[in-house]
Amino acid sequence: MGKPKFKIATTSLAGCFGCHMSFLDMDERLAGLLEQVELDRSPFTDIKHCGPCDIGLIEGGVCNAENVHVLREFRANCKILVAVGACAINGGVPAMRNYFDLQDCLEEVYLRGTNVTHPRIPDDPELPLLLDKVYPVSEIVAIDYFLPGCPPSADAFLQLLQPLLAGQQPDIASTRLHYD
Ligand code: SF4
Repeated sequence: MGKPKFKIATTSLAGCFGCHMSFLDMDERLAGLLEQVELDRSPFTDIKHCGPCDIGLIEGGVCNAENVHVLREFRANCKILVAVGACAINGGVPAMRNYFDLQDCLEEVYLRGTNVTHPRIPDDPELPLLLDKVYPVSEIVAIDYFLPGCPPSADAFLQLLQPLLAGQQPDIASTRLHYD
């Protein structure tokens, strides 16, 4: 029987999936990574709930009640939790709405917006409740590591993951980090 694989889960909260796309930019190096790693909940697997994992990668800020639920599920199940990208770390692009009142944002988009033909703010109970503003993930749960960038490069992902998988502290080269 081979060595048990590390389990990694990933999710995108209020994000654009650009950080996930950058992860895939590892290209052929993904094959080497997948010899050591098995994916749990992730857009790559379509598994809907996070089970016990070694590492959780969180893309995106926290904009609604569902994001809070998912983030808490990751924190409860992942030994190491990483905030990936500007949106997870400081709210990023989605947090631009924090400059405006939430009700004003909804009215601008659904009632007064250009090309609105049936003005109505959606109120289906199935829709997750919007929070008053978009929060960095570290304001909701404890975060172990932060990987900045919009998005972080594939090299930066590797420089984070390889030491973590070897049980070491990551030391990402400053040339691989950028603060967009
Ligand atoms: Fe998209 Fe950039 Fe936010 Fe990542 S950090 S989710 S690439 S906007």
